[in-house]
Amino acid sequence: MLTPISGRSVVVTGASKGIGKGIARVFARQGAKVLVVARNAAQGNATVEELRAAGGTAAFHAADVASWEDMQAMAAAAVEHHGGLDILCSNAGIFPSSKLIEMSGEDWDTVLNTNLKGCFLAVKACLPALRESGRGRVVVTSSITGPVTGFPGWSHYGASKAGQLGFIRTAAIELAAHHITINAVMPGNIATEGLDELGEDYLATMTASIPLKRLGSVEDIGNAALFFASDEAAYVTGQTLVIDGGQTLPESLEALET
Ligand code: NAP
Repeated sequence: MLTPISGRSVVVTGASKGIGKGIARVFARQGAKVLVVARNAAQGNATVEELRAAGGTAAFHAADVASWEDMQAMAAAAVEHHGGLDILCSNAGIFPSSKLIEMSGEDWDTVLNTNLKGCFLAVKACLPALRESGRGRVVVTSSITGPVTGFPGWSHYGASKAGQLGFIRTAAIELAAHHITINAVMPGNIATEGLDELGEDYLATMTASIPLKRLGSVEDIGNAALFFASDEAAYVTGQTLVIDGGQTLPESLEALET
């Protein structure tokens, strides 16, 4: 049983759907005050309504993580709505598919600007408020793709997700002076709106390659993020946790047939 985080102020980027919404749901259920951040206001507000209907405290803030001005306004909004900022979940990300032969420099920049630079900008913008908290926490949503595995079409995505892990290791050292921890969750294949768009074949192939024989749920990731944000994880920083149903374990197809 973790010490309750009720009353703490949490920002979750990319919380209008998918994993971010799952993280927001888990934190709101624990009594945290959640700022839901995404670009699409209709989807973001619908998520806030859902969280409130379930008894949670939540507000929406429209922002693009690739914009420094937007990230500064986001941090200010958390303080304005919820009186401060204790936890940043840097989760917003995109995963368009493009094989190297057809990938343009612009394709590369779009993915890196959102996933990697967006993470840096969110952390940097939230730093003053997290420092003020005295027990700041950052949880980054990385992936198994890049740091551990590869998948055709995702060389830019994999680079961005591996880059996030390089980022947190030095950030952890710098932030430690301010009693802020930074860790990363590394999801495998999680059932989300974004993953659904990859099609039935992708989902079936992935499910078959997971020893636990199911895709992960967004709550599976939310629960891991909650651990990193908890008082009990106060001495854990610069670390990663793979949540993939065992997908990265099999050495061969034979290992999946047992
Ligand atoms: P999703 O269902 O497509 O949701 C993405 C969320 O991010 C949405 O709320 C979206 O809202 C927001 N977003 C995208 N670009 C943004 C931007 N520039 N600024 C602000 N918000 C932005 O995706 P997901 O599957 O939940 O993925 C979420 C994170 O988990 C990503 O970092 C992804 O790399 C990671 N991940 C996912 C899986 C998986 O299996 N699903 C596995 C490993 C890692 P708007 O479009 O309205 O902005």
